[in-house]
Amino acid sequence: MDKKILLSPPDLGGQELKYIHEAFDTKCILSQGTNIEVFEKELEKFIGGGSFVAALSTGTAALHLGLVKLGVKAGDEVICQSFTSSASANPITYLGAKPVFVDSEADTWNMCPKALEDAIKSRAIATSKKPIAIVIVNLYGMPAKMDEIMAVARKYEVPVLEDAAEGLGSTYKGRQCGTIGHMAALSFNGNKIITTSGGGALVCQTKEQKDHVVFLSTQARDTAAHYQHSHIGYNYRMSNIVAGIGRGQMEVLKDRIAARRSNNAFYQDLFKDIEGVTVFTEPSEDFFSNHWLSCITIDEAVCGKNREQLRLALLEDNIETRPLWKPMHMQPVFQDAPYYGTNVAEKLFDRGLCLPSGSNLTDEDRERIAKAVRAFFK
Ligand SMILES: *Cc1c(COP(=O)(O)O)cnc(C)c1O
Repeated sequence: MDKKILLSPPDLGGQELKYIHEAFDTKCILSQGTNIEVFEKELEKFIGGGSFVAALSTGTAALHLGLVKLGVKAGDEVICQSFTSSASANPITYLGAKPVFVDSEADTWNMCPKALEDAIKSRAIATSKKPIAIVIVNLYGMPAKMDEIMAVARKYEVPVLEDAAEGLGSTYKGRQCGTIGHMAALSFNGNKIITTSGGGALVCQTKEQKDHVVFLSTQARDTAAHYQHSHIGYNYRMSNIVAGIGRGQMEVLKDRIAARRSNNAFYQDLFKDIEGVTVFTEPSEDFFSNHWLSCITIDEAVCGKNREQLRLALLEDNIETRPLWKPMHMQPVFQDAPYYGTNVAEKLFDRGLCLPSGSNLTDEDRERIAKAVRAFFK
């Protein structure tokens, strides 16, 4: 059997071990040190927009602290894109708040601005208060329609937390994802566009915010020789070892984006003559996706095959694919949460498949994929 072609494996740049060794050599293996400082600086430089970045242990931790900073408290309602990872929604519940799920729109697969406004209005009537925050996502790297989303957010004065875990390096009207909302979470989990093995970051707009996030993420210690606490803290800071991996990965981020985008171009070409299959790509020039994962939707009414048949056929050839995210409002754990929309995400889940998208996908891998796909649709 040929070797397994994975969906999105890590892709090391080469310098990562050097920076880890530096951490050991200088005995800086704690939650502070040069690797953390440089990694944060490099991220700030890369995403721009005057951002301040706090490196944390995971993207989920970043979302959790982002919600804390936006003032989410027990009993509040937080609007969340339904079509996403459970990690976008779970931190809402960590705070005792309740998620309200909003559908996606067909062209970006991200939160529908109309459904968002409908949800805010309906919740104000149902609960006589406004939702306290909005979590939007750049799914598979595709930017959301941020002008429209931010206009609704401003109109109702609800802050926006961007879950940019999948969107590092994507831009909307020339602005980096993660710099458009009020705060943003990044992830460096093993399958993301760059990885630190596990890691995340919270993107802030001011140095004061960042300093406070670092304070909260290191057990919220007051200034004193002993352990003195006036706030509930968290143990969410990134370690200086892990940040060394991030430092090495920042050196190759641009190449990783180019490689993922070339995968998408490959799939566009592969599927261009296969009727009923659509490769997900940018709706207009305003959007630049890092194409973290390349995805397709299959219309069974047109091609007589469905995504599950394709998934199983590719698996026979040791090629890993995965159905799109199952929307959160369809998950048993969130069955009681309110949902606003017209089932766009449900249809996408039914028809969609993520294809092998690693930045280390080889020409040989592509040939195998092309052969298997052509055989399946013959
Ligand atoms: C990966 C991911 C997260 C969580 O990040 P971790 O670093 O794995 O905690 C959150 N949201 C989305 C959309 C993700 O893809």
